[in-house]
Amino acid sequence: MRDITVLSGGHGGSKFISGLLHGISTGRIPGIEEDARVTVIANTADDLWMHGVKVCPDLDTVMYTLGNGFDHDRGWGRKGETWSIKEELEAYDVPGTWFGLGDRDIATHLVRTQMIEAGYPLSQVTTALSERWLRSVWDDRVRLLPMTDDRVETHVAVKDADSPSGLSVVHFQEYWVRLRAGVPVEKLIFVGQDESRPAPGVMDALLKADLVIVPPSNPVVSVGTILGVPGIREGIIATPAPVVGISPIIGGHHVRGMAEQMLAAIGVGATAAEVGLHYGTRGAGGVLDGWLVDAADADALESLHASGLKAAAVPLWMSDDDSTADIAAAAVGLVAR
Ligand code: GDP
Ligand code: CA
Repeated sequence: MRDITVLSGGHGGSKFISGLLHGISTGRIPGIEEDARVTVIANTADDLWMHGVKVCPDLDTVMYTLGNGFDHDRGWGRKGETWSIKEELEAYDVPGTWFGLGDRDIATHLVRTQMIEAGYPLSQVTTALSERWLRSVWDDRVRLLPMTDDRVETHVAVKDADSPSGLSVVHFQEYWVRLRAGVPVEKLIFVGQDESRPAPGVMDALLKADLVIVPPSNPVVSVGTILGVPGIREGIIATPAPVVGISPIIGGHHVRGMAEQMLAAIGVGATAAEVGLHYGTRGAGGVLDGWLVDAADADALESLHASGLKAAAVPLWMSDDDSTADIAAAAVGLVAR
């Protein structure tokens, strides 16, 4: 297999892709050639405008992680970051300072915003930004595509006793960063999704792939939003490539983030089995051929097999590139068999 396509959110997706690339280049993933190319289709429904600049958190997390610019200690943003602009904005007491924009990070958003305002679609902007982060490190072995060039935004309706309706609607980033995913969710709203189209290259990346991977990204607000772009789900159902997913839920909990809250909001239980069944089996309307769960969730295998999915249980903690490469190898082995 030479052409691998991965759907990705931010943190979980990019950690997986980092380990996948490590595994590929060290020849430890049987079935994948050492010169294989990886195309990443990234979620853009977290994107927002802040202080006049367009921010694309998941695209940037993938870019910075694979380009050795990610701050692994903080868990987001650029390493070596400084915060002068944030401090100055706070001194002006402008709204929106809950969203931390570092000085280095802002340069990325300025370049992106200038290009968008000059009329370039996000996909071309992403290719331009990738020159620095991806091409310099991976040459043409890694390609980053936004799921769509159109505006799609996840909004969250939360309970709000101060509002006359008892509800208020906030951007997903406000729910996650300012409200720390700590308020009850009434409803998720995917603004613009029904009218969005896959970005250039996305459909080809699915239909011409040798393997499609759904990494341990958030099933609702990362992978769910990608699958919600009209055409993408159909492309995954139609591709001749095998499709394999890795559970972001271990032992009934997300490892990091807010998948439990997001799954509850769409009525899916936060277990490895229920998430696999939610994605579903190709041939029965779903998108997967195989689903990898953690060793702690081996009791999920029976219901997964009964649904027609290939499934196996192995340790799914992505503690470093080596352990993540082993996860990737197990996922590939599941559907390459
Ligand atoms: P985000 O956009 O930054 O939220 O990142 P993603 O959507 O790509 O990934 C978030 C998901 O990654 C969460 O649901 C986590 O449970 C999952 N995750 C993070 N670390 C690990 C890990 O080590 N193993 C597994 N299986 N999942 C993980
Ligand atoms: Ca995200």
